[in-house]
Amino acid sequence: MPPIAIGIHGGCGTLARELQSEADWAETRAHLEKSLRAAWAVLASGGPALDAVEAAVVVMEDSPHFNAGYGAALTEAEDHELDASIMDGATLAAGAVCAVRRIRNPVSAARAVMERSDCLLIAGDAADRFAERSGLAVVDNAYFTTERRRQALASLKARKQRGTIALASEAEKHGTVGAVALDRNGNLAAATSTGGFNNKPQGRVGDTPVIGAGTYARNGLCAVSCTGQGEIFIRRVAAYDVAARMHYAGQTLDQATAALVFDVLASHKIGAGMVAVDAAGHVRAPFNTLGMARGWIENDGVVHVATHQDAIKAAQLERA
Ligand code: ASP
Repeated sequence: MPPIAIGIHGGCGTLARELQSEADWAETRAHLEKSLRAAWAVLASGGPALDAVEAAVVVMEDSPHFNAGYGAALTEAEDHELDASIMDGATLAAGAVCAVRRIRNPVSAARAVMERSDCLLIAGDAADRFAERSGLAVVDNAYFTTERRRQALASLKARKQRGTIALASEAEKHGTVGAVALDRNGNLAAATSTGGFNNKPQGRVGDTPVIGAGTYARNGLCAVSCTGQGEIFIRRVAAYDVAARMHYAGQTLDQATAALVFDVLASHKIGAGMVAVDAAGHVRAPFNTLGMARGWIENDGVVHVATHQDAIKAAQLERA
């Protein structure tokens, strides 16, 4: 049977291990595993990669442990603006929303833009209204707020005043979630969703909804979802560059993702990470920060979840 695979990330802005209780880390890992299992259920029953990445991202958007959906970062005006995108590697169709304020699961709105509109990217209030018309769940903006994000915002504002912003940890600043998948028909897909940067100005849009920057998928090559300071990922066309290196320079997934994270993006002195899968079902999730919440299941069905350097084998699943 042809291979299937899923890879996810929960952002490269991970806290130092000692700054969170073991119970919190355990819950973070449990939510990563839940996300992987949701995607695997789709893939193992022969379902499409697009459904798998959407399902995986929805679970992380609904978790307070990641900067997307519930638990998203706060803007400097103390509210939320969310970005998301999805791409189908089979057709190169893609959809995205940016600076949305009321859509409970922005990744599903991105999918609706791809499948039910003539556009690729819809912004702001119009995107909220489009999602509502499409029958997606909408919530008050305050739904997305958690105490942890309030504290991160307060600490960043204080640092800004003291002029110590350069000392802020990656975890204080940002995060994102994403998923990549290969299905049994050889189709690749990628999806990414974020609250962006803590304390960002209203209207700021990062790489997450920009196809080729934060998200890219093309059958036969790879599917990629990125995390890190979006402005640099856009300038470096990071997700597409992974595919281009594989296509034009014959690099492996391992070489291409490592080149981006440890060389190209690191040269800008930013925290960076990504998850990617190739057409053979290899998953890679490199990062250059303290940690990156992540997980993957390759064709062998072994579930791996991780937050810092060491990965944990969580379970063994059936391929159905
Ligand atoms: N890439 C996201 C953005 O710039 C943030 C992150 O991944 O940490 O909005």
